[in-house]
Amino acid sequence: MADDDFRPFRDGFRWDGVDLLAYKEDGAAPFKAITRQVLFAEAGMGCELRYFEMAAGGYSTLERHQHVHAVMILRGHGHCLLGEAVRPVKPYDLVTVPPWTWHQFRATRGEPLGFLCMVNAERDKPCLPATDDIARLRSDPMIAAFLDGVAG
Ligand code: MN
Repeated sequence: MADDDFRPFRDGFRWDGVDLLAYKEDGAAPFKAITRQVLFAEAGMGCELRYFEMAAGGYSTLERHQHVHAVMILRGHGHCLLGEAVRPVKPYDLVTVPPWTWHQFRATRGEPLGFLCMVNAERDKPCLPATDDIARLRSDPMIAAFLDGVAG
């Protein structure tokens, strides 16, 4: 692994030796203009560190699951939905996504939004919102505006 011990940062939020991947393998979940780079996925470490980046106007999937995310915003400004709260996010903000908490990141500020995300290597599959989940979330005007792509 010696050749991989040091992987320099490059322009455009890329790293040497790190592939630029599709956000999700499964095309069924809704998302837009987002890429994934797996920065660390060492066997035996039990966790992975990924970098996700949305182009302006892009968003991650609205989802929830048992596993926890530990997120640090790394690039740009935008908003996140976490449970029942819509918050503006900026570089180096820390976001903990607890178990079974609805979450979504959106590049709402006309610029890319990138974040680091640490997760368990073995984790459950995300659940998508059903119609009644969406209705419940939308009953909050801030969340409805967020889901419509209007900054919260
Ligand atoms: Mn998630």
